[in-house]
Amino acid sequence: SHNLFETFARRMHERGDADFITTREGRRYSHADALVASASLAGALVELGVAPGDRVAVQVDKSPEAILLYLATLRVGAVYLPLNTGYTGDEIRYFLSDAEPALFVCRPAAVEESRNIAAETGCPAVQTLGTAADGSLMETAAAATPRETVEPREENDLAAILYTSGTTGRSKGAMLTHRNLGSNAATLMEAWHFSENDRLIHALPIFHTHGLFVACNVTLMAGASMLFLPKFDADVIFEEMPRGTVLMGVPTFYTRLVADSRLTPEVTARMRLFVSGSAPLTAETHQAFEEKTGHAILERYGMTETNMNISNPYDGARRAGTVGQPLPGVEIRITDRETGDVVPAGEIGMLQVRGPNVFIGYWRMPEKTREELLEDGFFITGDLALVDEHGYVQIVGRDKDLVISGGFNVYPKEVEQVIDELEGVVESAVIGLPHPDFGEGVTAVVVPKAGAELTEGEVLEHLQGRLARYKQPKRVFFVDGLPRNTMGKVQKNELRKRFDTTYR
Ligand code: ATP
Ligand code: MG
Repeated sequence: SHNLFETFARRMHERGDADFITTREGRRYSHADALVASASLAGALVELGVAPGDRVAVQVDKSPEAILLYLATLRVGAVYLPLNTGYTGDEIRYFLSDAEPALFVCRPAAVEESRNIAAETGCPAVQTLGTAADGSLMETAAAATPRETVEPREENDLAAILYTSGTTGRSKGAMLTHRNLGSNAATLMEAWHFSENDRLIHALPIFHTHGLFVACNVTLMAGASMLFLPKFDADVIFEEMPRGTVLMGVPTFYTRLVADSRLTPEVTARMRLFVSGSAPLTAETHQAFEEKTGHAILERYGMTETNMNISNPYDGARRAGTVGQPLPGVEIRITDRETGDVVPAGEIGMLQVRGPNVFIGYWRMPEKTREELLEDGFFITGDLALVDEHGYVQIVGRDKDLVISGGFNVYPKEVEQVIDELEGVVESAVIGLPHPDFGEGVTAVVVPKAGAELTEGEVLEHLQGRLARYKQPKRVFFVDGLPRNTMGKVQKNELRKRFDTTYR
């Protein structure tokens, strides 16, 4: 059978008493413990009526047990469906009615509201899971007959449904198979030289592809271990780096570490790898990190629908401002955003990817699936990219964020980079707003440094001569900070809404 759990279980069995997940509070699961616990949680799932193919929706705070629940779900052949802990009751109502899970596992404090939502949406069972191995699910598991068997699965059977981050619109449920997850974990383990000697410092949320699949599946595949931290906290990271080997982070982790005087070659001496993804890492942050530690951050590119596609190399040049080259088994092509034809090398176009990692479609959205998942197997990522002279991919931005002003394409990143050079600027976001003459008006939203007295005129003056006229913003607004989601992605949708009436 192709149940991904079987692959993991073989490794867990071999690793036996070695650490799998530990916490700073001294909690610990060895690989053997995880095998046992996943069997007892699998027993609970069966007792609760979860059958192969059923969805298990989970909105819980980060804990080792949540990962054991993920493993148990795979084990019984069900479909793991993690939900962002920030979702409100209304959002959960949407996800449960969309996914129709057989079981909803929620936080102990949310049990009443969750029961109501479950009743309204026809979800037959609700259980709780807390962060201290507490909650009704753990009680059910303790009383249930452990389920030692593994449900046989085919390669293309669903292992998980993961909702996209909702950066560009309503989140879509990406249907991921055992093959999708297994192939990517094996590829990344090899590409990033993961082994059983690794100890991953895990500070990401576990409802997103980065913290769940990239981090946990690679760790499981390699028989490595993870230190589970509830969230990113620089103090804790500095304490733990001398005992870790790998950190996976979103760019904001690295901008915070770089700004900290404790970042030195000594404190990072035992670490062998720093990975960044989920959002663009600026070349400045990459360079500053290397200057301060001697480590070149390895930036990679992926998404909910595909896991990881493109990565800088483990051996060889990790180029700042690029996401590297397609991973083994992954093909890419860059196409004209209107005609769909492949563009000449070096030109910007829509990035498409194909490989065993690419999902099989959006849950209950056949039309959207047909639009984005082409018949020849390529998936239209929605990101604009180019392949540079070194053969490395540069992500230029999202197609939906492209500004078309007076018929000319303006790539926000290019303008943002020039604005960010200005003394007194922390960061910026360039957006297009409805404009009666130009279609869209280029608009800059700038975060000034504390105490900086920057004016709109100064920003515009700086851009004169550095950028073609049509790329220069018509207006510049100052804000205290850019709106970001939990993964550090800038929410340009919100900025567009906020400044919508600027030119009309
Ligand atoms: P939605 O699809 O719901 O609008 P989303 O695209 O943000 O949300 P995710 O699947 O979590 O949802 O994120 C994938 C996206 O993140 C990619 O399409 C890309 O835009 C961005 N991304 C990931 N890694 C990188 C990277 N290294 N550099 C630049 N962008 C990245
Ligand atoms: Mg997306």
